[in-house]
Amino acid sequence: MTKPLQAVRGMHDVLPEQTPYWQQLEAEVRQLVRAYGYAEIRLPIVESTTLFKRSIGAATDIVEKEMYTFADRNEDSLTLRPEGTAGCLRAVLQHGLAHNQVQRLWYQGPMFRHERPQQGRYRQFQQIGVEAYGLPGPAIDAELILLSARLWERLGIQGLTLQLNTLGTPAERVRYREQLVAYLIQHVGQLDADSQRRLQTNPLRILDSKNPALAKLIAAAPVLTDYLAADSQAHFAQLRAMLDAAGVAYVINPRLVRGLDYYTRTVFEWTTDLLGAQGTVCAGGRYDGLARQLGGRDIPGIGFALGAERVLAVQAALGKKTRSSGLHACVLMLGTEAEIAGLVLSEQLHTALPQLRLQTLVGSVKSQFRQADRSGASLALILGSDELVAGTVTIKYLRQDRAQVTITQDQLADFMRDALSHDANDTRAI
Ligand code: ATP
Ligand code: MG
Repeated sequence: MTKPLQAVRGMHDVLPEQTPYWQQLEAEVRQLVRAYGYAEIRLPIVESTTLFKRSIGAATDIVEKEMYTFADRNEDSLTLRPEGTAGCLRAVLQHGLAHNQVQRLWYQGPMFRHERPQQGRYRQFQQIGVEAYGLPGPAIDAELILLSARLWERLGIQGLTLQLNTLGTPAERVRYREQLVAYLIQHVGQLDADSQRRLQTNPLRILDSKNPALAKLIAAAPVLTDYLAADSQAHFAQLRAMLDAAGVAYVINPRLVRGLDYYTRTVFEWTTDLLGAQGTVCAGGRYDGLARQLGGRDIPGIGFALGAERVLAVQAALGKKTRSSGLHACVLMLGTEAEIAGLVLSEQLHTALPQLRLQTLVGSVKSQFRQADRSGASLALILGSDELVAGTVTIKYLRQDRAQVTITQDQLADFMRDALSHDANDTRAI
């Protein structure tokens, strides 16, 4: 027998036992962003390749070697989006969404990067992104960081570290870059091949090198914050004061440069040591120059994206469970006639109680009880020949030590409504 076809390497199915965790994360995010006034935007998965080259930067890992780029049938170069910010800003500019107004947006969806697959690093992965446009001051930087902090709290995730840095303005970075390159050239013999190449193309990224042999050299390098002008210093100081006042702890990390070129001033990451090398669960920053770079008017922007797989992995590592998803019952239908009556009865219940989880079963008595047990249902609604004749239904408690009861079919909707309301009063531990 040949092996059945497999999913593409680095791209994963989310199996039914996992989807409740995804749904819970999505529900928490939805509620939270709504509370802070962010509106959802749904964006295409495919964009023109130019968009990413112009925004993320030609000399970044993503653009150099990670994009899924292809020519379509018209020979236009298209790319599966590797991240969401570029497409979001493209849409904002295209539709004038930030024209003389502030715009708070969020999105979610799959992103694609041709990286080496490993734990927490996939070729298709899911991001949830939150972006704000039209606000140049540090208050929105603080708002986004506080929103992300609150999300961890709502998800029951403790122990993440907030790393914070400022990258200044492009002009400040040019001055710094000269000093950094001068320093690195003095020690060029110690640089690895990748860093030697970056010395020409993107020297700031050398600061982000994961090569332990470079750690000492990088630690002694000039620091960008020493090259900031007064405005950038003040922006950063005000952000820190806001976070201090709100009681959010952070670590200033002058080596935090981020893998995309478009950032200006504030950058941040939420990291964990529970996931090994893939320790960043959420990352973001300000990108005030990007709208111009894409040919639009000057619109300040800031945002972050979290990697849903990594957030869920942290929850799993912390032993978080999903909430119970409500009362669940099975209709056991014993015999062909019972299958007709059972179907009608189930449809009546679906009409009367839309929130009830109810499924009909067929098969031998033994098989139906086995199915009911596996399904996790707490009630079995049994329709056998006796019940059919008497117009009744027998209710058996599958998870409780309680005697079964027989009621008339007319009473069933009320009975189930009552059971549902008791279930809703149960304490639901996460
Ligand atoms: P990393 O340093 O881990 O490569 P990054 O800086 O490339 O991350 P961003 O582009 O900032 O990541 O994306 C935001 C978030 O998306 C990351 O913090 C991470 O949680 C998630 N993410 C990025 N790349 C992947 C991937 N290949 N697989 C799974 N999640 C990812
Ligand atoms: Mg990366």
